[in-house]
Amino acid sequence: MLDLIVKKIMTKNPICISETQPFSELIQIMGEKAIGSVIVTDKNFIPYQILTLRDILKILSIGNFDGTILDVLSFLNKQNVQLITVNESEPLLNALDLMKQNNISHIPVLDKKNRVVGIISLRDILREFPGIVFIDTLTGVNNRTYLSMLTLKLQKLKTIYCVLMIDIDNFKLINDKYGHSAGDRVLREIAKTIRENVKGYDEVIRYGGEEFVVILYRCPPDHAFKIAERLRQKVKLIRIPEIENSVITVSIGMVISSRRESLDKLIKKADEAMYTAKREGKDRVKIFTKGKNHSL
Ligand code: GH3
Ligand code: MG
Ligand code: MG
Repeated sequence: MLDLIVKKIMTKNPICISETQPFSELIQIMGEKAIGSVIVTDKNFIPYQILTLRDILKILSIGNFDGTILDVLSFLNKQNVQLITVNESEPLLNALDLMKQNNISHIPVLDKKNRVVGIISLRDILREFPGIVFIDTLTGVNNRTYLSMLTLKLQKLKTIYCVLMIDIDNFKLINDKYGHSAGDRVLREIAKTIRENVKGYDEVIRYGGEEFVVILYRCPPDHAFKIAERLRQKVKLIRIPEIENSVITVSIGMVISSRRESLDKLIKKADEAMYTAKREGKDRVKIFTKGKNHSL
């Protein structure tokens, strides 16, 4: 699912309407075709805006509207708003991330030559992949919504498990020095590195902006520590072109489950151990123990 591209899900050959057409025409088209959005084209038939059912309902709520599509755009303050588009060969997650960041539900899809070839909508994505609501759109690992589901599963688990809290060191500096998009790239690479270095059945969750929670199942404590150490070392090997000479490091807190403790409490303890790792100089793994946190 994660490597699926936009083209596979999009609705092909979207309906277009010229900005000079009357609004009533749009109502007729949307009614006839039962579609959720149309693309507005300018005088030269170049697509430059999108109108969704939500926009149309806004217009209808003011009563009779006998203007053109251009009047509609100006009423909605959408006349000079940059159209957000996605390429047909981009990952589905990119489209979802754009929707989230810009609070939109539909995005026109372009081909290599920048021609509009489709529309991708949130509803289409959710219909195909209901599970996508548990995925963090930036990094592709699970999100916090998933974590709340896990709480129930773990309550019933009879075997012990290990919780790691992984926090990127000096991440604010990386953002400040190399820009937010370089920071995003770091987040993606770290998520990928973590995912690739734990078992398929283990859990990797983006817990906060630059924090990941990892749950290792069926794992004795000394082995879990080795895995945490391996993750720390693997992150240091990440190379990102935008960040020439900086080595990326993480601080890791670790805790082993006990029968009485909820996932919530364990995460707090892993977090505490992680902060001890920060205080002691970062780029290290600390294990939570009652009273004090130590490394093996
Ligand atoms: P420390 O070593 O103590 O952990 O310091 P830090 O700079 O990593 O931690 P701090 O909590 O001060 O800063 C976290 C930064 O993470 C601040 C915030 O801008 C950045 N951040 C959070 N989410 C994202 C994101 O999605 N993308 C990018 N690029 N940055 C993010
Ligand atoms: Mg943090
Ligand atoms: Mg940090």
